[in-house]
Amino acid sequence: MTVLTTTRHQAEPLAHYRLLTAVQQHGFDTAIQRANDAHDADRYNAAMHTAGLAIGIALADGAEITQCACQDCYCDAVFDTSGPDLIVIETTDYGVQRFQCAACADDHPATPED
Ligand SMILES: [Zn+2]
Ligand SMILES: [Zn+2]
Repeated sequence: MTVLTTTRHQAEPLAHYRLLTAVQQHGFDTAIQRANDAHDADRYNAAMHTAGLAIGIALADGAEITQCACQDCYCDAVFDTSGPDLIVIETTDYGVQRFQCAACADDHPATPED
């Protein structure tokens, strides 16, 4: 058996935003917004947990999910921010950081602004 190409394994996104139902999108958006406004770790984690439930995933305590913030394509990947090969586009002291998903980071990496 000959392997002609080596494809780097990338974690599949947890969900694709466009494929969610309107109710799921609303629940996800609302929860992420609440996480952004939390300014408090407990409320932040609770909001993240709700965001996970909105897309049908029970997140571990302290886990964070977000939608790809890529500005070079219309990526709608929703992924766990602890995953490999992500690029942080923007950090915040509180609230949700903005990430590029692994596929985008591989394909057309963003250059974070200082
Ligand atoms: Zn992406
Ligand atoms: Zn992209």
